[in-house]
Amino acid sequence: MNKLDYHYQDVWRFTTMATCQSPIDVVAAKLQTGPAMVLDCSGLQTTALERKKQVIGDQFFCQGLLRIDQQAYSLIRFHVHDGAEHLFDGQAADAELHFVFQRPDGGTLVLAIFYEEEAEAPLRFQKIYHNQGQRVQLQSLLPADVSSVITYRGSLTTPPLKKDVDWILVKEKLGINPVDLATFKQDYPDNHRAVQPLNGRPVQQRPVKMLPKS
Ligand SMILES: [Zn+2]
Repeated sequence: MNKLDYHYQDVWRFTTMATCQSPIDVVAAKLQTGPAMVLDCSGLQTTALERKKQVIGDQFFCQGLLRIDQQAYSLIRFHVHDGAEHLFDGQAADAELHFVFQRPDGGTLVLAIFYEEEAEAPLRFQKIYHNQGQRVQLQSLLPADVSSVITYRGSLTTPPLKKDVDWILVKEKLGINPVDLATFKQDYPDNHRAVQPLNGRPVQQRPVKMLPKS
């Protein structure tokens, strides 16, 4: 199967008229403080996975529910980027995972998790990549303790770059085993889009109470 060629990403923007694109560089000095949120991940439990090869990168389809304050979001799929797409003060983590949810209004919300290579980190992704049909514990892909998140409105990061996507970026990074990282690189090397102009969008840092507590 052909894969999306990130060398030609400059021409992707012609697929959309939207000016509020993702990813972005999150600049700490320019963050606004937003209201606290309760991020309830107890619905992201053990689930059977179905891996589907797609041009934009392998997608892992599974069941799950995220609750933000009292609102429920249904998990549609997740995937991984080799090299983070969102930057923090210009710095990229080694990998970024996107949990893609359907909002109650039919729109899209993406929860982004960031990983830094760590020799002693547990193997989290081998089962996901190589043992299809098995059940995996989604919470193991999230940091256990999250104190705040970054939120803003943007787009999906692959064509057709669907707009009006709510983003939640979890700043606390999780260690990733070099073997897991090599698996991403082998499948979809450097599949990260360059950061896009903010165009005046507010970017908020919001304190979080994460459930369940580990
Ligand atoms: Zn993505």
